[in-house]
Amino acid sequence: MVTLIYCLFSCTTKPICPYSDIPGQVGQRKLNLNETTTAHAEEHVFGPSAGKVRTFVKRANEILLKKLVDPKTGNITHVDWLFDQVLNQETMNISNYWYLPGGHWKPMNCLPKWKVAILIPFRDRFYHLPILLQNLIPMLQKQLLEFSLFVVEQANQELFNRAMLMNVGFLESLNFTDYDCFIIHDVDYVPVDDRNYYGCSSMPRHFVSSSDTVPFRLPYGEFFGAVAGLTKANIRSINGFPNVYWGWGGEDDEIYKRVRDARLIITRHKGPITHYNVIKHHHESAPMAKDR
Ligand code: UDP
Ligand code: MN
Repeated sequence: MVTLIYCLFSCTTKPICPYSDIPGQVGQRKLNLNETTTAHAEEHVFGPSAGKVRTFVKRANEILLKKLVDPKTGNITHVDWLFDQVLNQETMNISNYWYLPGGHWKPMNCLPKWKVAILIPFRDRFYHLPILLQNLIPMLQKQLLEFSLFVVEQANQELFNRAMLMNVGFLESLNFTDYDCFIIHDVDYVPVDDRNYYGCSSMPRHFVSSSDTVPFRLPYGEFFGAVAGLTKANIRSINGFPNVYWGWGGEDDEIYKRVRDARLIITRHKGPITHYNVIKHHHESAPMAKDR
């Protein structure tokens, strides 16, 4: 009994993670937004372990395929499974993180404040993706968050539907593990400062206060686009994201209105910390739907 009570208070071996692992050194980074290859981005993120990671990822993909694809029908079976159960053997130690191939990062020495699912709506932006990831992953590691990246790809040629992809990402991510913070993230927005903390708070958070496209201010006061974070409870209380916005624009303003109607208050830090570099578009934005 004495041991048990003693244990209740002191058997948790890990402390709660602080907001950053290098106090005093975080700050603005000089970003490299030049075109890069996936291989190069991997080397940037994994350093000398990159080769080993590739082998592990290949093996992990085989395991996942076996788990998910029914060998008789070839159909993907929708099972609830956890990274931890399926990929435990494949866990790798990358500096101060556990890395589970499939894209899940967990601090080794402390309990993260947030389990973050980064949801990236995506189609045909292969030029942008490695640039974003090579900048984003080191920042999230410094912030000692547990995180996964979900690139949610629209696989047809219909008009793009950003908000529906976010719904898909939200629901699917919860099959992996119990995330508590969801960050919807445009693929071409790169945070410039490590202090732009990607944890959530009880209220929806907008991570952008300015960007190269509109420096020093928001494009308009009610702007809630590009990069925004909501808790699971926030998303449930706004009934998710609107599915009806096909084509460019409008869905972010509707999400703003849903947040407001649910009496939630958007939080945002102002100033250079929440500035974003925008990767140059090699494309026109998607056409706006006529009946939007
Ligand atoms: N997006 C995409 N493929 C497209 C259109 C949009 O991947 O064909 C995603 C991508 O994440 C992008 C976001 O949706 O950053 C917003 O679209 P876009 O960049 O065209 O919007 P804008 O920058 O004009 O607001
Ligand atoms: Mn864009």
